[in-house]
Amino acid sequence: MRWLINLLKKSDKEGIDISIREGISGYYYYHIAINEIPLCGNKNTMKTELPLASWGIKSHIGETYCKECEELWVKRKKK
Ligand SMILES: [Zn+2]
Repeated sequence: MRWLINLLKKSDKEGIDISIREGISGYYYYHIAINEIPLCGNKNTMKTELPLASWGIKSHIGETYCKECEELWVKRKKK
């Protein structure tokens, strides 16, 4: 996932806080957030320890990753 590598690089280079946030409803639903605000605008999220590099990985707990956040990020990179 090249976009994810770019995201990690950007986070380092520009010193902006890009993180993964988890939906408060549970179900291991994750968003990509810049300075703690998810790209998709979902306000019902909380901090999580999940590192950015784990985005998209599915384990036995059945994580889901916000498609909207992912698409918004990919589009953002193309500009
Ligand atoms: Zn999202």
